[in-house]
Amino acid sequence: MELRLYNTLTKEKEVFQPLDPARVRMYVCGPTVYDFAHIGNARPVIVFDVLYRLLRHLYGEGKVKYVRNITDVDDKINARAAEEYPKLLLNEAIRLVTEKTEKQFHDDVDALGCLRPDVEPRATEHINEMRDLIERLVKAGFAYVGEEHVLFEVGKMADYGKLARRSLDEMEAGARVEVAPYKRNPMDFVLWKPSKPNEPGWPSPAGIKTPGRPGWHIECSAMSWKHLGETFDIHGGGIDLVFPHHENEIAQSRCAFHTPIMAKTWMHNGFLQVEGEKMSKSLGNFVTIRELLATKKFGDREWTGDVIRLSMLKTHYRQPLDWTVAALNESYSVINGWRRHLTSGGDYTMAFIEQNREQYETFLPAQDVVSSLLDDLNFSQAISALHKLARIDSVEAKQALFGSLQFLGILTFEEMASEQSFEELPISKEMLKARIAARNLARENKDWKKSDEIRDELKAMGVVIKDNKDGTTSWEIAR
Ligand code: AMP
Ligand code: ZN
Repeated sequence: MELRLYNTLTKEKEVFQPLDPARVRMYVCGPTVYDFAHIGNARPVIVFDVLYRLLRHLYGEGKVKYVRNITDVDDKINARAAEEYPKLLLNEAIRLVTEKTEKQFHDDVDALGCLRPDVEPRATEHINEMRDLIERLVKAGFAYVGEEHVLFEVGKMADYGKLARRSLDEMEAGARVEVAPYKRNPMDFVLWKPSKPNEPGWPSPAGIKTPGRPGWHIECSAMSWKHLGETFDIHGGGIDLVFPHHENEIAQSRCAFHTPIMAKTWMHNGFLQVEGEKMSKSLGNFVTIRELLATKKFGDREWTGDVIRLSMLKTHYRQPLDWTVAALNESYSVINGWRRHLTSGGDYTMAFIEQNREQYETFLPAQDVVSSLLDDLNFSQAISALHKLARIDSVEAKQALFGSLQFLGILTFEEMASEQSFEELPISKEMLKARIAARNLARENKDWKKSDEIRDELKAMGVVIKDNKDGTTSWEIAR
């Protein structure tokens, strides 16, 4: 079956054909690390994580390379560092801010069930590649130096504006472009800019004598080149990045390498909104991932990663997503319903799952779930397929549901085994495990009297245990 993806570049859903099926390559613009990520930032991370999982399923785990950068050079980072550590040297303060924020980001998106990309390049470790690209652009006549800045001259590229589908005039009218004396055209954008003495700076390209630092767009051209090559398969990010960020990345990479494309497929997630407005730091209407995970500010509980993840996947990735506590509550009930279904009756109870983890991890996703995703990541259809499976009470359907949930990164093994699945138990998880272990030992020693005693004792406490030839493998709450 074919994977079809909507391509912002052609405005069409296209059959996805990798340049090299043995090396499928995807780049996604990552966070600027100066503060906790908000749940709007979590949307592209989750969306492209599902795509990454799907690509690995289709082409093989080792055949997909996913790169998501970390932007650790930016004016917002400098400002935050100076504010937070006024007594330190700026560079030292920046290091503290970016290291701390990167760790927070990782902890948060790990909790949301996202796999780590194969490479997470940091901008500051790719300054040489950026300088190299800038030199090439100046040499080829696409860029020029003005007052210690290097600017990309948009008028030199015939199809500048192709991704955003706007002409230069339209772009100029619509964008907040900075008119500056060193620019030939207000739309020309910065590749390199001078650093003030106390700001982070590196030796400049293009014969500029004073130290400087890169513009934002050149970072992604440099890091995708280094880790994926001049041309690759998929480039993703939020819809706000289409213009100017992605348009400018395309201009830089194509003109530096003289290639007809930078990435074959450009994918953009819609915005996460609160009451019809974009969630953003500047509007002050944002909720951080951390607040949802670790505080009870929204609703009357701390939310688990899979509840947040499912809430995010209920809406198609290209649609705007309205963020509400009611939606979190609904996902919470859905997940608990699935968990209860998977751990009730027959052999498929939690103790069995815990003892058969390896087998559980081999369960495959249902074909209906995969085929829904093949259609431009049709999340809601995939979730309907899960609901359908959850209505069937058979071992096969349970295996398919479990395999599908693992595949989607919802209700993972760890989440299944977490305390919550024991919340209905009349005794503690530790006590139950200890009693089961003691009983298995008694059975091994053929001490049937003891083994029966433990069974009866647990029954009296409200838990019915079940055996197979290997010992106690499952339990149920006595009804
Ligand atoms: P930023 O740190 O603002 O550059 O954003 C990092 C990523 O999050 C980019 O791919 C943005 O497009 C995306 N993003 C930021 N805000 C939102 C939002 N409210 N909804 C969806 N995606 C967002
Ligand atoms: Zn980028």
